[in-house]
Amino acid sequence: MELRPEPDCRHCVRPKQLDDAQLDNMLQQLLRQHDWTEAPVEMAHARLRHCTACEKNDPRGTCLVCGCLLSIRTRILEQQCPHPLGARW
Ligand code: SF4
Repeated sequence: MELRPEPDCRHCVRPKQLDDAQLDNMLQQLLRQHDWTEAPVEMAHARLRHCTACEKNDPRGTCLVCGCLLSIRTRILEQQCPHPLGARW
């Protein structure tokens, strides 16, 4: 069964190619729009390590469950892992 991103997820878009500055701009825009908080760097790194080992990690850098860019979702404190068998972080 192919997993598709949640149809109502509009927080971020899949990029063709985004550099670090563009990703950071997207993150800052999302934080402002939703009044979210940036996660501490160590927390974001720990989250990404879980994603790296996860079978739902798309090679293009998105989560196959929610469709979010992992390099952004993991940096938002209020977000959590949407894994259907239980959050990994
Ligand atoms: S299911 Fe969770 S751990 Fe897996 S890629 Fe998505 S956000 Fe990361």
